[in-house]
Amino acid sequence: MDPVADKLNLLGMPQGELEAMFVAWGEKPFHARQLMRWIYQRGVSDFEAMTDLSRSLRQRLQETTVIEPPAVISQHDSADGTVKWLFESGYGQAVETVFIPEPGRGTLCISSQVGCMLDCAFCATGAQGFNRNLTKAEIIGQVWHANQVLPRRDNDDADFAVTNVVFMGMGEPLANYRNVVPALELLISDLGYGLSHRRVTVSTSGLVPNLDRLGDECNVALAVSLHAPNDPLRDELVPINKMHPVNALLEACWRYAAKRPSRHVTFEYVMLDGINDSVAHADELAALLKDRPAKVNLIPFNPFAGTRYTRSPDDVIEKFQDRLREHGLVTTTRRTRGDDISAACGQLAGKVSDRVRNRLSQKTKRMATA
Ligand code: SAH
Ligand code: SF4
Repeated sequence: MDPVADKLNLLGMPQGELEAMFVAWGEKPFHARQLMRWIYQRGVSDFEAMTDLSRSLRQRLQETTVIEPPAVISQHDSADGTVKWLFESGYGQAVETVFIPEPGRGTLCISSQVGCMLDCAFCATGAQGFNRNLTKAEIIGQVWHANQVLPRRDNDDADFAVTNVVFMGMGEPLANYRNVVPALELLISDLGYGLSHRRVTVSTSGLVPNLDRLGDECNVALAVSLHAPNDPLRDELVPINKMHPVNALLEACWRYAAKRPSRHVTFEYVMLDGINDSVAHADELAALLKDRPAKVNLIPFNPFAGTRYTRSPDDVIEKFQDRLREHGLVTTTRRTRGDDISAACGQLAGKVSDRVRNRLSQKTKRMATA
């Protein structure tokens, strides 16, 4: 029997729940703050080292709780400095996390689900199907582990390697709202990682009701996977579009942006050769986003085994970008990183035992013809 299996994992636990735990033990709630500083600011998981807690409290914590990130199966280091970890997710499954170092910052791309249900046509994660949501400990544990093993920036003890976190790994973060929002709060809270809310980005394919909730409950940067400028094409590429079509999604985006001053939305647009990459598509996209708080990030398609798509040639991507810029849209093209270790955007597949009997693309097709 695993000796820690029946212990409570405190990693990722919201401050309020930790306080309630201490109160239930007849202790003062402020111990939650002390504990959180040890876990997130100092990266300590050994209760014995938490010297500002009494010996008896440390002992009780030791006996009944753990601070445990998911186990690492493997680490791969790319020639360009990108690092990819495979984390154990039970029953032979695994999720992936990628660290992308750049001058002055270190971005961690984390997963929120084992697989994904949303079945986007061009995505390796979607092709694997879906098994389950990650827990809070498994989500925050990816950040905790990366900060633990990566060298500190400028060799300063206080400066963890991860300065930015993006929910662009496996899964749809807004489909695991219950665990993702507490994780977001820990990333931006002063007692957690204390990252600026501009340095924490949720990427979503457009679950409109939860997007509205997120706008009310959490102030983080938003990226939306648009990928097509009209419903027929988006229905094909991002099947959830049949439930939340382009106009409804964009309206939710403008509501999100309006809730905080100086918020904008980044629209991700994967460049698929001959599918969504013509100048006419660029004009249609610009018409949707013009004079709105919007930026565009073009993502050269990253191929994976079994896909029917290919990447748009560089000159086509450049032309598309120039056209959007002519329309006055701030547009960037994402540089592909870590593709030698299959760590580039959309290549994360991990290992997923699919539990989805009905594919979303087929289900929505049936809905449309019913
Ligand atoms: N589920 C969320 C976040 C994870 S995917 C979402 O869809 O936004 C992160 C980004 O990678 C999304 O914009 C997604 O559309 C994009 N992506 C997926 N597959 C890709 C591929 N093969 N090549 C390039 N980008 C891809
Ligand atoms: Fe899921 Fe995002 Fe991949 Fe679509 S692109 S299948 S929403 S992970």
